[in-house]
Amino acid sequence: ATADSGAPTIFDKIINKEIPSSIVYEDEKVLAFRDINPQAPVHVLVIPKLRNGLTELAKAEGRHGEILGQLLYAAKIVAEKEGILDGFRVVINSGPTACQSVYHLHLHVLGGRQMNWPPG
Ligand code: 5GP
Repeated sequence: ATADSGAPTIFDKIINKEIPSSIVYEDEKVLAFRDINPQAPVHVLVIPKLRNGLTELAKAEGRHGEILGQLLYAAKIVAEKEGILDGFRVVINSGPTACQSVYHLHLHVLGGRQMNWPPG
């Protein structure tokens, strides 16, 4: 086991461009790309390029504070680029009870339609 304690995921291949994705935003630390199974007209995933132990939000530690802030700010940049700044939703599923399926922390940025609450 590595310090990361988690198997590689499909997102590593997306980060390494081994499998294609539709990239919306990218910088040194963060990658944002369209979800393959969109749940709204805009559905973008925002991920850290280095997982660094963040398989899920439940594993966050103090040392992750900076990247967590960068991810949230990148979500706003994505919303701006996609033209949904007037209304959008940012979701993190953490753990099986929340239906997390890929164990590399990611923010869902959703918009382009009326979002309802509670999500269920
Ligand atoms: P989770 O359920 O873990 O919160 O979200 C994982 C998301 O990753 C799902 O919405 C799923 O559609 C998306 N996803 C899984 N595999 C791929 C892929 O290969 N490419 C892209 N673009 N999205 C993926």
